[in-house]
Amino acid sequence: MPEGDTIRSLADRIGERFRGATVTRSTFRHPKLALADLVGATLASSDAHGKHLLLRWVGGPAGTGTTLHVHLRMDGAIRFDRAVEVPEWRRHVELVFENGMVLTGLDLPAVGMVPTDQESAVLGHLGPDVIGDFDVAEAVDRLCADPDRALAGAVLDQTVMAGFGNEYAIEVPFIGGVSPHQPVGSIRELDQLVMLGADLIRWNAVRSGRNTTGRRIERGDTWIATPRQRRCPICGDLVRREPDTATPWRRRTAWCPTCQPVADTVGVDLGRVRGLLRMHPVRRNRPCWSAP
Ligand SMILES: [Zn+2]
Repeated sequence: MPEGDTIRSLADRIGERFRGATVTRSTFRHPKLALADLVGATLASSDAHGKHLLLRWVGGPAGTGTTLHVHLRMDGAIRFDRAVEVPEWRRHVELVFENGMVLTGLDLPAVGMVPTDQESAVLGHLGPDVIGDFDVAEAVDRLCADPDRALAGAVLDQTVMAGFGNEYAIEVPFIGGVSPHQPVGSIRELDQLVMLGADLIRWNAVRSGRNTTGRRIERGDTWIATPRQRRCPICGDLVRREPDTATPWRRRTAWCPTCQPVADTVGVDLGRVRGLLRMHPVRRNRPCWSAP
């Protein structure tokens, strides 16, 4: 499932490969793009806002000042290989560049062309991007606008802040020792959890794999987000899991009932955060996480 870190990394890779290159053939097989034509347009920049990918163009009949906006949701994908072995009807966007490179958008659930100066029309409902110029205090204010909301549901709401995906909505509460069901308004040091999530998302955005543990650092690794992780690595209790049909925020969740109990008010357990970040490079971002 593409999350904010994946999209940022994807945007960077597209930028590295295609920025400055001109489209020689463009094929669109999506009703929203029936009239689109990018022949002659040059990729000016590739950017991400939360889970939204923004490819900005200059030149060509329709290129200048145009943004191709893509949201991958659950099933969409962008491929760079020249021969994509997927039926044509699933290749919603195919762009061939002057140097022979090909960019293919597969199974895109949400896609469209917008004038670059009107990107806010598709992004305007989003909260601040955790990977962009991110203000933790603003994010905490927005989270607490609905204090009774469960932590995981609130951080996943892209109108509150953009880029927090479900694995982080499981892992960050676990690292902090707070239940994903804990109402946000009853969490002291909520800013610590927001910072922790933003730091992990940023750190993972420039790497392959999603690593929240610091173990096997070059690969993806999580504490409890993966269903095969049956027991809490800290206390040994069985990890509780709920499917997306059981949570108010309609995404699956997991927590350790011993380490992450729901209470009237809870604090973030900084000793636990320090211990769990012991091997992770993000501990160096904040002095309070790397104290002895
Ligand atoms: Zn536990």
